[in-house]
Amino acid sequence: MTDFHNYDFKGKRALIRVDFNVPLDKETLEITDDTRIRAAIPTIQRVLKNGGSVVLMSHLGRPKEGFEDKFSLSHIVKRTSDLLGVPVKFATDCIGSEAEELSSTLKAGEVLLLENLRFYKQETAGTESFAESLAKHGDVYVNDAFGTAHRAHASTTVVAKFFPNDKMFGLLLEGEIKSVNKVLNSTEKPLTAIVGGAKVSSKITIIERLLDKVDNLIVGGGMAYTFVKAQGGKVGNSLVEDDCLDIARAVIAKAKANNVNLYIPVDTVIADKFDNDAQRKEVNINEIPDGWMGLDTGSQTSKDCKEMILKSKLILWNGPMGVFEMDNFQAGTKDVAMAIVEATEKGAFSLIGGGDSVAAINKFHLADKVSYVSTGGGAMLEYLEGKELPGIKAILA
Ligand code: AMP
Repeated sequence: MTDFHNYDFKGKRALIRVDFNVPLDKETLEITDDTRIRAAIPTIQRVLKNGGSVVLMSHLGRPKEGFEDKFSLSHIVKRTSDLLGVPVKFATDCIGSEAEELSSTLKAGEVLLLENLRFYKQETAGTESFAESLAKHGDVYVNDAFGTAHRAHASTTVVAKFFPNDKMFGLLLEGEIKSVNKVLNSTEKPLTAIVGGAKVSSKITIIERLLDKVDNLIVGGGMAYTFVKAQGGKVGNSLVEDDCLDIARAVIAKAKANNVNLYIPVDTVIADKFDNDAQRKEVNINEIPDGWMGLDTGSQTSKDCKEMILKSKLILWNGPMGVFEMDNFQAGTKDVAMAIVEATEKGAFSLIGGGDSVAAINKFHLADKVSYVSTGGGAMLEYLEGKELPGIKAILA
């Protein structure tokens, strides 16, 4: 593998796989959140400052068959240009003679954006000839798209083989890998993981792996009620996976065996319907009456979590504590977010990764007060599960 930091880009065209899969307004097709574009800017600027030129490739949305205007990357040319401070050229096709003409005549300091890779089915199929056509656009390949690193697509994985000596991670992807490895492989203690979200079934692989690594494991969100029921508590109409009761019991046993402090919430905010305006009460989590469901963690749970989080040196947070999308059931999630911020201020390293905890930290405007917020939802989950991500493997091979 080549090191991006030391690579001499002078006179070279860097073909950079970015994740510009940004949300667009359905009517105006304007970008509603440009976080992903901003995240790739340092990598692009490093190449330009070093005397290279840049060819950007990305997907946008899930087009079915060929070109569709609402998935065209032409809608993000201007914003990319504004954020970079240089004009960005656009190729209306990601392969073929017109695109090759544009990429082959790029001068140092210039940037070209290729049209949506997924207008070709060969992208997601990982077709080698398509990857070879893409490879013609660059002298060096940089993968900076962590969000798609778990996919063996042409532009994320297969293309790397055409750059045996000139392939590398960009700064964003490198930062993602470093931060998750810091949490999973550091010897600093205590390490606290907070795993919330809807279902035990979707988080069980992560939980099992974390039980070999962490000192404290806090379970939150809808998942918690399956643990409560598994221990004989009354969960009323809360979200429960009856087919996961044995799994929950096995997790409790493994935690004991591994000397992990497994924390299951002790109180909960219940509602008489799944609605922000429902009636609410705070009760012991083992005593939820029939007709009521737990939608958030209670105040004692917030206190207990805060205490654990503030004593931690490393913190990993994946998945909300409750239905944070509804303002009346966001307190448990917000309390955890604020405790993580306070621990970070005191010197802990905190990683927020995977899906809805990222949405939550953004909702509370606290993203810049934690150590690292991952850009890759599914990719981060698979990395935490211990899976080898094809996009990472292709660079290391
Ligand atoms: P996940 O994608 O598995 O991390 O789950 C996130 C979703 O779980 C969010 O949309 C939350 O609203 C939801 N969630 C969290 N707590 C609960 C709960 N107590 N009951 C139902 N859904 C919940």
